[in-house]
This record gives sequence, structure tokens and C-alpha cells, in this order.
Amino acid sequence: LPGNPSVNSGQQTTLGVLGGGQLGRMFVQAAQAMGYFTVVLDPDPASPAGLVSHHHIRTAYDDEQGLAQLQQRCDAITTEFENVPAHALATLAAQRPVAPSAACVAVAQDRVKEKAHFEQCAPLSGVAPAPHAVITTDASLNAVPADLLPGILKTARMGYDGKGQVRVSTREELAAAWDGLDKVTCVLEKMLKLRAECSVIVARGADGQVVSFPVQKNTHRDGILALTEVFDGALDATLAQRAQASTVAIANHLRYVGVLCVEYFVVEDAGGSLDLVVNEMAPRPHNSGHYTQNACDLSQFEAQVRALAGLPLPTPRQHSPAIMVNLLGDLWFEPNAVRAQASRQPVSPPWAAVLALPGTHLHLYGKLGARPGRKMGHLNVTGSSVAQVRATTAQALALLG
Ligand code: ADP
Ligand code: MG
Repeated sequence: LPGNPSVNSGQQTTLGVLGGGQLGRMFVQAAQAMGYFTVVLDPDPASPAGLVSHHHIRTAYDDEQGLAQLQQRCDAITTEFENVPAHALATLAAQRPVAPSAACVAVAQDRVKEKAHFEQCAPLSGVAPAPHAVITTDASLNAVPADLLPGILKTARMGYDGKGQVRVSTREELAAAWDGLDKVTCVLEKMLKLRAECSVIVARGADGQVVSFPVQKNTHRDGILALTEVFDGALDATLAQRAQASTVAIANHLRYVGVLCVEYFVVEDAGGSLDLVVNEMAPRPHNSGHYTQNACDLSQFEAQVRALAGLPLPTPRQHSPAIMVNLLGDLWFEPNAVRAQASRQPVSPPWAAVLALPGTHLHLYGKLGARPGRKMGHLNVTGSSVAQVRATTAQALALLG
């Protein structure tokens, strides 16, 4: 049974994951550390998770034979990204425990459903989504209230890292942008003046027990997460508490099982005080939760394993202030752009110098080709004080250029 780690039991308990990206890789590594066998389903033969898993099924996510194999080999199955077809999860769930459920993933993969869910939760969670309108037809486009402009037009499905989004100021721009997105279902959100962004990760077991990780403060660059800071004082304490409570309410309302991340905006309300807006959720571990690997006594990936396997979920404790720096492919080309250009080959960043700094933890995803904007890894920085973690991070960033 998935509830029994296979360690020393003589029996092979196997956990499966749909998707072979870095999140799947770190799930697999956490599962293996606890004695589980792992199976990854991903079409890419060089997928980061496939490369480290005991078994790799190389088919599309909705391939019937691939899914049948996954079901046969695994005692329980999870996912590492929200764009797996929800019906694939539903098929698997007919035979095996699947967490999160197809229904939860279906909400997270569609901004229209997601926003509706947040609105339903608002009386419980105390946090509402941004003012928005759903655009499905020319009539709904023309009916958009004027006060949503300037705004951001976002495709309802398949968006990530700022992709599938267009900033628009006028009705003409809005119409042109929707045209440019092939008139797929979209959400127009009012452009908010963000004072900060934060996110919360919770893990919820099948028994309804839910634990929350500390609140993460996130800095994005070009729509991609650049930096996560987690320590006392990074965020207003009252807002952080509200964000945690809201995330728990959102997970409970969905009867969610697994690891869930919810993103929030910190905005200034009309009276000049700070308020929270709920932005979106990910039905899986999240980039902003990577610091838990080195700064908490439970990582978000171990929490995913525990929730899936029906193991206890103690409240995580953060034992060090932390900063997580994303390592994008750009680092492999700069500041050595001249050398890289001359040889047309990416150049490895100066890891030895970075790792000479105490409290630096390097995580690379084993991706074979560095490309600008591609998430290649992350660096977690821990230390005995916030000042030390900040100083070490500054030194690391200076080395990386
Ligand atoms: P995704 O992460 O799926 O690409 P998001 O909805 O999180 O999409 O948007 C990406 C980033 O764009 C956010 O982290 C935030 O910085 C900015 N953003 C998104 N929506 C708004 C908004 N309504 N007002 C201001 N900034 C926004
Ligand atoms: Mg986002």
C-alpha cells in the first residue's frame, strides 16, 4: 500500500508522476530518499525527471498505452504540472490513488474556473481575486467595463511565466490583442499597482489535515520568478497570516490532496493601507517553494510524497532565513557573452566560486541545453541571520554577473 514506505519491507512500493520537468525530478529524488521506486511519464527522453527515475515511460501525457503502463506500475500517482490533460488523471484515478484529483487540476488549469473558485472562497478566505471579466465572444469583449482598463489580457489556459499575456490600455488595443490570441477564451484583469508579490504553499492529506509553509516574498523579472525571500520582516506579518489562512481555506474548499501553491499580490487599497489579492494557484510544488529544501525541516517535495503516500504531515519549521535565486539559461551566456559567441557554446557559470560561499546550496536540473529564459536550476542561500543571507546572496549574484 502507498502508506507503507518500501524501506526494508522487501516490497516495492512505486510512486508515479505525470510530467518530467524539474519539479518531477525533485519529487522523484524526495520519493527515492524515502525508499520508494519511481516512474515518470514524459515524452522527452532527456526530461530532467526521466533521467533520475527508476523507470521512464516515454509517451505523450494522453497516450492510452503510456497511461495504462503508469497505472500498472504505480501504487499512487501525482502530477508535476497543471497542463496534463485532466481526463488523463481521471482515467488513472479509476484504478489508483491520484493526488491532486483531476477536478482540482481542472480548476487550476483554467483561469476562468480558478477565478470563480477564488470568488466562492472569498467569504471564507477573506481575499478576493483582481477585478476581471471573461472574454469568450465579441459581445463579451464589447461589454468589458471601462474601469478594467488599463489591464492584462490573459489566455484562460496554458499560460505560464508571463506567456499568453498582453498588456492593453484602450479598447482598440484590447480588441487587437484578443485577435492576436486567436480569440481563445481569455480573462481581462485590471492592472493593479503591486507593492509586492507573495505565495503560500500548503500540503493537505487525504484525511483533511493541512499544514502551511511560511509565506514567500517573490520578485519577478520579465514575467519569470527571479528571487524568493523568506524570513521575518520580508512581508507585513498580518498580511502574511491572512495569506496563509486564505490558502488553507482554498485547499479545504477544494478538498485538495497534495501540495498546492497560491500566489498573491500585495496592493494598496483606496485608504492607502495594504491589502491582498489572490492571483493564481498551482496544483503542485512551486518554484517559489524551492527554499524549503534547505531552509525547512520538511521540503515541499517531501510533503508531496507524504501527502500522496498517506504518511504524516507535521507542520514544517523554517530553521534558517532563506533566499532562493533562479538560475536561468542566460547565466550560461553572460557575462561571458563574447566567449560564448565566439565558440557558439554556452559557458558554465563559476560554480566553484559560488559554492565557496558558506550557506549556498546549488540545485541543477540536468537540462542539456542552456537557453536564455530557460530554468536551469536554483541557488538556495541560508545563514544564521538575514543580514548574512543577504550578503551571501549579493556576493553570489556578483559572481554570476
Ligand atoms: P503566470 O505566472 O501564469 O505567467 P500571472 O497571472 O502570475 O501568470 O502573471 C505573471 C506576472 O504578471 C505576475 O507575477 C505579476 O507580476 C504580473 N501581473 C499579473 N497580473 C497582474 C495584474 N492584474 N496587475 C499587475 N500585475 C500583474
Ligand atoms: Mg504566476
